[in-house]
Amino acid sequence: MDDLSRFCCLNPDCPDHGKRNHGNLTVPARYGPNQTRVLRCSTCKARFSERKGTPLYGARLSAEKVVAVLNHVVEGIGTRKTARLVGVNKDTVTRYIRAAGEQARHHHDELVALSPSDP
Ligand SMILES: [Zn+2]
Repeated sequence: MDDLSRFCCLNPDCPDHGKRNHGNLTVPARYGPNQTRVLRCSTCKARFSERKGTPLYGARLSAEKVVAVLNHVVEGIGTRKTARLVGVNKDTVTRYIRAAGEQARHHHDELVALSPSDP
């Protein structure tokens, strides 16, 4: 049985949008080399990738590799060094940094009421 408790429906028009552990999601299919799950909402019938809205969406690397890349970057390790240590191309590292930064900005805008100005 798949643990879907951390997922929620991503359709903004769905009455169950954003409700986690609500029992409305199932896994009708998997795709790709990492067997990424397709989630289906029984309330609105929407289907979406479990990676949608994350830096992993559209990623060809395994989740473990992406997490390894971002963990190195968070520790302040440079792009080239990270690429060497994890065993990926440096352009790949740059791409994931950008994807993760973009997502962090969205979360910030959504979750933080007042953003101090950046002089
Ligand atoms: Zn839904």
